[in-house]
Amino acid sequence: MSDLNFGSAFDYAPAPETTPVSMRKKYELFIDGKFVPPKAGKYFQSVNPATGKRHARIANGDAGDVDAAVKSARRAYEKVWGPMAPAERGKYLFRIARIVQEKSRELAIIESIDGGKPIKESRDVDLPLVAAHFFYYAGWADKLEYAFPGRTPKPVGVAGQIIPWNFPLLMAAWKIAPALACGNTVVLKPAETTSVTAMHLAEIFQEAGLPDGVVNIVTGAGETGNALVEHPGIDKIAFTGSTAVGKRIAKSVAASGKRLTLELGGKAANLVFEDAPIEQAVEGVINGIYFNQGHVCCAGSRLLIQESIHDEFVARLERRIETLRVGDPLDKNTDIGAINSKAQLGRITELVGSGIDEGATLHEPGCSLPEEGFWFKPSFFTGVTSSHRIAREEIFGPVLSVLTFRTPAEAIARANDTCYGLSAGIWTDKGSKIFAMADQLKAGVIWANTFNKFDPTSPFGGFKESGFGREGGLQGLAPYLKF
Ligand code: NAP
Ligand code: MG
Repeated sequence: MSDLNFGSAFDYAPAPETTPVSMRKKYELFIDGKFVPPKAGKYFQSVNPATGKRHARIANGDAGDVDAAVKSARRAYEKVWGPMAPAERGKYLFRIARIVQEKSRELAIIESIDGGKPIKESRDVDLPLVAAHFFYYAGWADKLEYAFPGRTPKPVGVAGQIIPWNFPLLMAAWKIAPALACGNTVVLKPAETTSVTAMHLAEIFQEAGLPDGVVNIVTGAGETGNALVEHPGIDKIAFTGSTAVGKRIAKSVAASGKRLTLELGGKAANLVFEDAPIEQAVEGVINGIYFNQGHVCCAGSRLLIQESIHDEFVARLERRIETLRVGDPLDKNTDIGAINSKAQLGRITELVGSGIDEGATLHEPGCSLPEEGFWFKPSFFTGVTSSHRIAREEIFGPVLSVLTFRTPAEAIARANDTCYGLSAGIWTDKGSKIFAMADQLKAGVIWANTFNKFDPTSPFGGFKESGFGREGGLQGLAPYLKF
């Protein structure tokens, strides 16, 4: 490995994305195929996290607006979408997928402005996956009986869907595409800090001619989500977000007859064995934690290194974080963009403080951070023990906790020593070891010699407090069907 530190040896010229986009100053609710103002006339501000400045007003929907949206979804379910031939439903989904592809550059820029993620991720990861999910589920719409042979799948009805801020458009696609493919209609509640691209997706639904009321989008805060969960006209709730809110939702829908799937938090272990391809593993670990500023539920936030290679691995990590470029999300060379919100920056800072107080050692690069907006350096802790908060709680930021193990048995025990079970990673040269470890890891997704790779054909979901139910793949159809 070269000892050259390219990050400080010379710098790239700025390469900002300059394609003009048509963002609005004000976004309304999307109900019954139309953009309508909230009944109470209230709006909240959306902030560009890279500048800290307000850039749009977003409608703050309340229980009355949720009620209108649910009624519109019910009408559309009973009169149009439910009775429609499945192949016809598929055509709408294919059309939506194609329009997303056509508009993907513009949507990627808006996603980066509103949420802070680097353009190379929104452009090369989020948007291609959004289109891929609509294409994939479009293909299932008229083949459901082949997904579940010998059974007669039927739609559930009206789905209430609540999504977080880390992959705004992608989470909307994960939720909406399978629901519609199965013949359901939808009321979606985006996250408060990242509502803008959902409303641009609503424009795409209009352009695709999707019948009125099939998808309704009600923006607002947690109370808006709560109103959706509690609405008696909802047949199914699909929630992605924190474990704390997921537990409240589970209590609230208990005994209501509503179906529920939960995609919650994670504290994934990334296990690196001494026989792993080291440079590849360093890159994978970097991608596993710093991708999307660590705002990833399945982030490899606990690195478990075999003791014999600990020092060498840490030295390589230290060199590599010096070369990561933190800054303008719209710059094509940026690796790490802005932290999504001031509140999230506060949570990261508090947990990192606890790591220092509890005696772990923080390693951070020498880079400087922009003065305005919300930023955190890509960092990692060594000297972490399993009892430290930074080893147990989700930091949901660009901060890695490094622990060690001696034997495969110890690696498994440590990896499974968490209340979560969303994902895990294994780095080793030996295929047999991969299978032996994967069998024992209690996690829904396990990557081997790679990390954070997503595909619409593979199911995604958790064990333990990471939730239940699967999204993606044909498994992702089941929560939206009854038999
Ligand atoms: P969050 O606070 O749970 O919010 C998620 C969504 O729920 C947001 O739209 C939020 O609205 C809404 N909400 C808040 N309180 C609610 C309530 N009482 N009833 C109904 N809805 C409510 O989570 P977050 O902090 O935004 O997101 C980060 C968390 O999501 C992390 O824990 C992460 O691991 C998890 N996550 C999991 C996955 C997965 O697939 N497993 C994927 C992404 C993220 P507001 O935005 O207005 O608060
Ligand atoms: Mg914003």
